[in-house]
Amino acid sequence: MNQDTIAAIATPPGNGGIGIIRMSGPDAERILNEVFRPAGRQALPLPNRCLSYGRIEDDGKILDECMAVMMRSPGSYTREDVAEIQTHGGTLVLNRVLELCIAHGARLAEAGEFTRRAFLNGRIDLSQAEAVMSLISARGEQAHQSAIRQMEGGTADFIRSISDELYRLQAGLAACIDYPEEISDEEGTSELQSGLRALIRRLEESVDEQGARLVHDGLRITICGTPNAGKSSLLNALLGQERAIVTDVPGTTRDTVDGEISLDGIRVHLTDTAGLRDTEDPVERIGVERSRQALRSADMVLLVLDGSREPDQAEKERIREETDRCIVLINKSDLPQVIGEETVRNINPALKSLTVSALDPMTLRPLKDMLRHRVSLSDRMALTQPRHLEAVRRALGFLRSALSTLDTWTPDMAATDLQAAQAALGEITGDRADEKLLDRVFAEFCVGK
Ligand code: GDP
Repeated sequence: MNQDTIAAIATPPGNGGIGIIRMSGPDAERILNEVFRPAGRQALPLPNRCLSYGRIEDDGKILDECMAVMMRSPGSYTREDVAEIQTHGGTLVLNRVLELCIAHGARLAEAGEFTRRAFLNGRIDLSQAEAVMSLISARGEQAHQSAIRQMEGGTADFIRSISDELYRLQAGLAACIDYPEEISDEEGTSELQSGLRALIRRLEESVDEQGARLVHDGLRITICGTPNAGKSSLLNALLGQERAIVTDVPGTTRDTVDGEISLDGIRVHLTDTAGLRDTEDPVERIGVERSRQALRSADMVLLVLDGSREPDQAEKERIREETDRCIVLINKSDLPQVIGEETVRNINPALKSLTVSALDPMTLRPLKDMLRHRVSLSDRMALTQPRHLEAVRRALGFLRSALSTLDTWTPDMAATDLQAAQAALGEITGDRADEKLLDRVFAEFCVGK
């Protein structure tokens, strides 16, 4: 437990209806009692975990009316004595109350220090601490849900179960090394190898790189096709607003136009590209180059064709070249059609195609369902934090190395690898975290959290 008491404004900067000053540490209650005057018949000490109405006073001078609550150790966020004061949310008032707490013996908290204390005092593990920050910064529903799962201890439970299994294998290996006359090499090796393979499989399944990127960055979709096929109109129809300029002069969309929609809580980033035609116009050439760049980095491509005319050679070429990341949209279905989904199938059987009309939102439903299917994350335990993914990748490297050293029966080397894997896993939960790692994790936090 820490000997000093920390204080910070827990609400964001700027003016608001209420603002909260939070203190944690052994002097939190003394300081609260010195600055807070409960109103009416209420008396100090305050009841545990109940809001009380009163005033904040500095040497008899009223700073604000407020509510205060005392949460005594261990029943608090940090497991220390925590006091919170809710004042009116003006920057001046909040700063005056904070300064008053500091004048009475608290010290200004560092970024993430409350959560760091919760971690150091064993209330939460490191992955749960990070989940607090992910929850605060979540921008989509999936990111929100993933943070909640992590905060409820899902990540830590999973990693600890892997770690327990790894300890069992380490003990088995140690027995093989210590009692070579009782356990034959083949016997020991085959059991260890099958255990290791199972462990590697479980870890590999948890590393959902694509899911992680979806949760954090969203899905990047690029709309491409020849000028006038209806790309801008489709983007607008998907976004539900007039975002891209729509005209019937080919080459209007000279640059890329971006927009974002939310599908099942995943952010979907749409880019409408300039047509990919060869052009002499230098400005349009820049647009075409940007389009090519957007196409290269896209997770998915929507290739738009005008269904009321035959595809030209360049369009056929594009269909032939694309992979299954591409959905072909045969647009303008409200006009007489000269091509259909079989036209695309005949050129490239790997591509899915849909008949749509940018003028009729109902025809876009199957497309939205298809996109929804692509962004839906599996329910299996998925690690989505970049720091966790990196640690698991490292652990996997050591486990695979242990597996191959067991082939040549060099058990000492395998033991070293298993230890290293164990250490990498321990970094995720913080069971094996040094000060440097903690500094790095908590530097991402805001002051007051
Ligand atoms: P882009 O150059 O591919 O971005 O094409 P635009 O979205 O600018 O559309 C070109 C022309 O086709 C415009 O006159 C649109 O109104 C028209 N258009 C786009 N989609 C449809 C559609 O589904 N049906 C019909 N009838 N016209 C469309």
